Amino acid sequence: MLLRALSFVVTAVVTVVLSLFFMTYSASRIDPANAYFQATNIYRSGLQGTGTLALTFDDGPSAFTGALLDTLAQNNVKATFFVVGSRVRHHPEVMERMMREGHVIANHSFSHARLGRRYAANPELLVTQIGTTNDAIAPYVRPGQGLYFRAPYGIWRTVHAAFLNEDPALKYYVGPIYWDIGGQVTVDDDGFVRTAADWDCWSKDLTAEQCGDGYLREIRRKKGGVVLMHDIRERSLWMVNHVLPTLVAEGYKFVTLDEMQTLEKYRTPLATDVPIAMGAGRHPLAAPAR
Ligand SMILES: [Zn+2]
Repeated sequence: MLLRALSFVVTAVVTVVLSLFFMTYSASRIDPANAYFQATNIYRSGLQGTGTLALTFDDGPSAFTGALLDTLAQNNVKATFFVVGSRVRHHPEVMERMMREGHVIANHSFSHARLGRRYAANPELLVTQIGTTNDAIAPYVRPGQGLYFRAPYGIWRTVHAAFLNEDPALKYYVGPIYWDIGGQVTVDDDGFVRTAADWDCWSKDLTAEQCGDGYLREIRRKKGGVVLMHDIRERSLWMVNHVLPTLVAEGYKFVTLDEMQTLEKYRTPLATDVPIAMGAGRHPLAAPAR
């Protein structure tokens, strides 16, 4: 009798706790089928172990982006560029060329801001950071290209997604996109570079070869992934020149974010249908400026 009463109490408590958990949990989740900006960074690329790499270049365009486009063309590789909105108007030819040569142009905020607490408290500033960049890249985004966002420093707040997904133009974005490779420099006691991150390589005064070898080792261990690099320093360009022919020779396949299956679930059918449905030359990016 006592045992039955006890088991009843335990069951009741477990039921209450579980339903509270699911109520809270589901309320804070965004349905990926209806919202593209996610509550957290998209960490899973699905590319590890597949022999496929998505090269991403952040923080440009810069004076070195043109030379990087040469290297990519020579190796027949398409990449994704997360550009900083304030830089776009200084490099119209480079932007034009990126588009023409089949690279994906994506959004990395207007001033490379840390989108933390201050932006959670002032969502209109958040919408401005991403919306002004959206306007800046609009002329260079091919109709049908997906729209992607990466948060500077990977800094993001859960509340950001809800604000951005209410915006008529920005709700078409998928993001924030994270990375698998290129997050940090790790060096063994004997000075062996195991993993690398270009910006940190340069602050640690590593050579382009040392840094590139760090990238190669992490890529070979993970056998694929989204690779984070930057196109604002000449040394990063030297590093790409060192690394890319090796990766091509080793048989890696290269994709843009548009070709990544994993991101499909974050899009609704509308994201690709809209440019066609809205008529010739009409793209979601061309929505009136706020
Ligand atoms: Zn950045």
